[in-house]
Amino acid sequence: MGLDFIPYFKPEINSEEIDEVVNTLRSGWLTTGPKTKEFEVEFSKFIGNNFEAIAVNSATSGLHLALEALGVKEGDEVITTTHTFTATAEVIRYLGANPIFVDIDPNTLCIDPEKIERVITSKCKVIIPVHFAGISADINKINDIAKKHNLKVLEDAAHAFPTTYNGEKIGSLNTDITVFSFYANKTMTTGEGGMVVTKNKSLADRIKIMRSHGINRDAFDRYSSSKPKWFYEVVAPGFKYNMTDIAASLGLIQLKKIYKMQKRREEIACEYFAELKDLPIKLPSKPEKGDMHSWHLFVIQLKNAKLSRDDLINLLFKNGIGCSVHYIPLHMHPYWRDKYNLSQKNFPNSQKAYENSLSLPIYPMMTDRDTKKIICELKKLL
Ligand SMILES: *Cc1c(COP(=O)(O)O)cnc(C)c1O
Repeated sequence: MGLDFIPYFKPEINSEEIDEVVNTLRSGWLTTGPKTKEFEVEFSKFIGNNFEAIAVNSATSGLHLALEALGVKEGDEVITTTHTFTATAEVIRYLGANPIFVDIDPNTLCIDPEKIERVITSKCKVIIPVHFAGISADINKINDIAKKHNLKVLEDAAHAFPTTYNGEKIGSLNTDITVFSFYANKTMTTGEGGMVVTKNKSLADRIKIMRSHGINRDAFDRYSSSKPKWFYEVVAPGFKYNMTDIAASLGLIQLKKIYKMQKRREEIACEYFAELKDLPIKLPSKPEKGDMHSWHLFVIQLKNAKLSRDDLINLLFKNGIGCSVHYIPLHMHPYWRDKYNLSQKNFPNSQKAYENSLSLPIYPMMTDRDTKKIICELKKLL
């Protein structure tokens, strides 16, 4: 790859992040400790209304902890979308439960609420909507269905920081638990990491215990106490899902600049909307007026183009532009397809979106020149 190759993604890490990480390295406390606590406090303030924020080492662990706390057990069913990353569904299998996959709305590419009700059985416990690309799923409709059938709602908000729905931040909506991802290519990063957010105190308590071996107090509480407090009790066979203070140091700085980073992504999105509108492509759905889209992804879909999606990606790559595809739907992956006998006929919207879509670069480190080059190449090729 040449020097002027525009990668699909590059995280924005500056001297502030580097200094904060170095401070932590010099502090003598590397794992879950004061920085993680501070990050949780700041994140909780960001969400507002005294929601609890529990830092974990990935969104995948967060989703696993959330389902465990919600009481999902072997043989239960959990409804989610086929148009997502495998993590959303694999955590259901960790608990021996079975995912029930639902097709997407062709415009937002989020789970189609109209299709949820017909798959609900007496074994269903939870619905996991994914806020695809950073636009909110239709949470009011999903909540209505959940209430009617006594189901819990767990938001996979890996793409949705900071996104709003009806003017409210994702994380502060009237659902049971929300999980954010700080994986390297998400809208903010801790390298690897995630945050579980809930207003339910007993769910939060369970998640805190299970994140750390099922131990009823964390190591920093024990070591930082003024009296010797070596005693702890294991109350469940928990997991090892805690966030390190090294990761939390990155998170503290990234959180401070999240709106600045979102604004830059939005600028790039606006430019794509303005410049690509006459090409044979379907542009992504915009959020409702007044709502914020995190613009984690900018997914375009080819529509009567003279090129195939694969050819377009290859030609863009040859011309120095990296793109990606979100997602290869779960019904196409051997494990999910074979285990649950899934057929693409049952997920026509997801299948069509998959066949025609590609994700363009969109991140704060992109320069105006990068955006112009991408637009120019797309115009030439299409
Ligand atoms: C990235 C992602 C996850 C997993 O996040 P990790 O922090 O990498 O575990 C889950 N769901 C979706 C939709 C994602 O994009």
